[in-house]
Amino acid sequence: MNRQIPAAAFTHPYFGQALGHLIGGRSVPPAAGRMMPAIDPATGKTLAHIPDGTVEDVDLAVATARQAFEGPWSKWLPWERHRLFMRIHDAIERNFDELAHLTTLDIGTPIGKTLGMKQYALKAITYFATQTTNIGGQTLPNSIGTGVTTMTVKAPVGVVGGILPWNVPLVGLWWLLGGTLATGCTIVLKPAEYATLTVLRLVELLYEAGLPEGVVNVVSGRGGTVGQALAEHPGVDRIVFTGSVEAGKKVIMASASNVKRVQVELGGKSPDIVFADAPMQLAVPGAAMAVYNNCGQVCTAGTRLFVERRVHDAFVDELVRFSRGMRVGPGIAPDTDMGPLISQAQLDRVMSYIDGATPQGATLVTGGKRLGGALSQGYFVEPTIFCDVRPDMTIAREEIFGPVISVIPFDTEEEALRLANDTVYGLGGAVWTQDLSKAMRMINGVRTGTFWVNCYDWMDAGVGMNGCKLSGYGGKGGPSHVESFLYQKSVYINHTYTSDTPPAGAGLRA
Ligand code: NAD
Repeated sequence: MNRQIPAAAFTHPYFGQALGHLIGGRSVPPAAGRMMPAIDPATGKTLAHIPDGTVEDVDLAVATARQAFEGPWSKWLPWERHRLFMRIHDAIERNFDELAHLTTLDIGTPIGKTLGMKQYALKAITYFATQTTNIGGQTLPNSIGTGVTTMTVKAPVGVVGGILPWNVPLVGLWWLLGGTLATGCTIVLKPAEYATLTVLRLVELLYEAGLPEGVVNVVSGRGGTVGQALAEHPGVDRIVFTGSVEAGKKVIMASASNVKRVQVELGGKSPDIVFADAPMQLAVPGAAMAVYNNCGQVCTAGTRLFVERRVHDAFVDELVRFSRGMRVGPGIAPDTDMGPLISQAQLDRVMSYIDGATPQGATLVTGGKRLGGALSQGYFVEPTIFCDVRPDMTIAREEIFGPVISVIPFDTEEEALRLANDTVYGLGGAVWTQDLSKAMRMINGVRTGTFWVNCYDWMDAGVGMNGCKLSGYGGKGGPSHVESFLYQKSVYINHTYTSDTPPAGAGLRA
């Protein structure tokens, strides 16, 4: 698994530079002049410096976004928005290789995977383009009188604050940009400290494609300062947060200042259930990659792997074989299957979960070590599997956000359901079986916002993903997603022009 890796040939104009925020379509230096490094997690080396922003930077970005919202942008016609989406589509398509390589170096995701996100991103942009013509209210019947027409109309909520995690910027951004641009909102994005480069470059491309000044702005910096300031800001009408439960709770509390609309997508400890009749050729790689994808740093990672006891040992053997075949290394190497963790802090956190599992009674069957040699400067850890895991152990209860699978056997469907639901989280989940009735019982019984059958982590912008319990609320993508960037107005039109109908309180008269 530990390989010699050739040096990366890719370079980028950002590298070695001190970058600014992106406010009003222009690079703006941080007001306080403070910077922080963007680090390649495969080597520990600094790629560039990004602003360590402050409240003043957030104030400027929110004022800029407000000004853009008050201007012609929020009144653009659907076809104008649609055309903009098409230009953005083409700009992203033309520049995707660059975005993918930049992302791979900035956060470590294997290049095959980041390049593979191209189709996803382009399909998402196309989906949101179609939504520009779908925004409308209803004409509703009323009991006031025949001379009165009543209806609802939809209007953009205004300035959105978007606080992002670092794990999938190439994909995660469209959940925010799609609704914003389709509806005429404007936005201030706060990328995660560890994944700012992709966000800056992608937003630059939006402007190259013709985005009006100030519609999308980026303020980089830390969660406790920039993120908190955005969540509290009286000039922000809606906050969309994706990240940990701990930070999500702070965002919800801060948003009360001006009663913002809030959407929070938080952590998970997703159940992945393998029945004895599973299509094993799919279930083995599927269950492994449900965790090893992005080095376990995916909110929906299927880290609690429930395997029917009569196939448990054989399944674990195959899972171990698969894990040992994983090529771990820098994401930029074309044959890498799994890259590094994002940071030293994340590596320490994951290793502390691994080190704590055996003393609690779990059996380490493969992996469990940090990689050394040529990889010692990066934050690499082996694909790791624990067996004999009890549901009450720490590794079975807490989100690790690393490549660690906890295998737990079960005997009956009822037991599988009980174990799957024994968690504070409710994000993703899956079942592997060829019995459709059994699959339906799992779909109906497992309490999660997103569920897969004989696949994992599949995602489509038109279908979306949701969460429940501590995993948050609000959903991304799907029919109700664009709605969440709009507010609804109830309209009463008196077209009788007679003195019979008083101009006020007509409905209450009777
Ligand atoms: P994090 O909570 O540390 O950071 C997320 C973002 O919130 C970052 O931009 C950070 O700077 C900001 N932030 C931190 N404290 C803040 C505060 N007090 N106020 C405002 N903003 C603050 O999470 P992370 O480490 O970047 O990402 C990992 C977590 O995100 C995991 O728990 C994962 O499950 C979750 N996640 C969830 C989804 C989902 O859709 N449900 C998607 C990706 C990641």
